[in-house]
Amino acid sequence: MEQRQHELPSASHGTRRALYSLHFGQRRSGAKVYLQASLHADEVPPMLVAHHLRTLLAELDEAGAIPGEIVLVPMANPIGLSQSLQGAHHGRFDMASGINFNRQFQHLTDRIASHVDGRWTGDGADNTRLIREAAMHALAAVAPTSETEALKQLLQSLAVDADIVLDLHCDHEATLHVYAGTPQADMAALLARRLRAQALLLCACSGDDPFDESLSRHWWELAERFGDRPIPATGCFAATVELRGEADVDDALAIQDATALVEFLQDTGHVLGPAPAMPEARCAATPLEGVQPLVASHSGILVFHRALGDRVRAGDCVAEIVDPATSAREPVIAEVDGLLFARVARRWVTRGLRLGKIAGPTAFRSGKLLSL
Ligand SMILES: [Zn+2]
Repeated sequence: MEQRQHELPSASHGTRRALYSLHFGQRRSGAKVYLQASLHADEVPPMLVAHHLRTLLAELDEAGAIPGEIVLVPMANPIGLSQSLQGAHHGRFDMASGINFNRQFQHLTDRIASHVDGRWTGDGADNTRLIREAAMHALAAVAPTSETEALKQLLQSLAVDADIVLDLHCDHEATLHVYAGTPQADMAALLARRLRAQALLLCACSGDDPFDESLSRHWWELAERFGDRPIPATGCFAATVELRGEADVDDALAIQDATALVEFLQDTGHVLGPAPAMPEARCAATPLEGVQPLVASHSGILVFHRALGDRVRAGDCVAEIVDPATSAREPVIAEVDGLLFARVARRWVTRGLRLGKIAGPTAFRSGKLLSL
């Protein structure tokens, strides 16, 4: 294993931050996996999973069981890790700009298309190489204007030539769930089964360019745009894995998750050796456009009546918002049948706050599909 240190440009006199990446195996074209933990820096479970993953991957590397390269970034956001304010950690939004750390990565389709410009070949492997080179070129040409933009450029550059990218997050309170691109449904289903995920949410474009889509989306968009050329629509499989809730920081769970991730890499051939039997699927894929966000219509005390992982029906009362001034209890109603897979962590809520998410089977939303 090799550890590399990447310096970020200093945001202010007297401060300097760095990102660390761990590199296992040997670099070989077409066999690269990239994993990162806690791009939202206040989501701690992924960092514990990365800690255990590091041990497992080091043993596999020692045993010669990593035929290509596996890159692990165990703390993806040194800027967000430092954002403490009066005792509370704020790791989701860049305090300087207010921008979500997992939004506004570079959407590369147009730049790759113009860079390759007429050099497409009749060979899928050649086109794969052309796309990766053009993507690296496009990212290198970006001139970041802030430390956070430099971090995003660095993370995307470390991952853009990988054929598998797993971005490890968590929600407030949640069952384990996975987000991926619709054109990658088969691979996503495999990952979800290995992780025993209870929800798998697919869409082709979620809006606002999150990290995973910035690595995968240009593949299927280029394949569609240049349909007469062999371009693999799944040249990079990228997924966001939500490792339950922010308080689910537990060695046993983290070891279970790290082991499942290694087994997935055995399934895909990026780690040698037979994977154990595939567990039964715990969910079918549903469209991200079918997720109902539960929204607070009033301010008050949030009292849930349904647990994480519960199946609810349209019309069910999932929670109530209690107004201490009037004693009124406002019901929070499910509008779709589906799985309650995430809940907000706080219990005093203000009007408009998202209280939870239900994975329904039928698409009904459009536009920007991700929460703030
Ligand atoms: Zn997150």
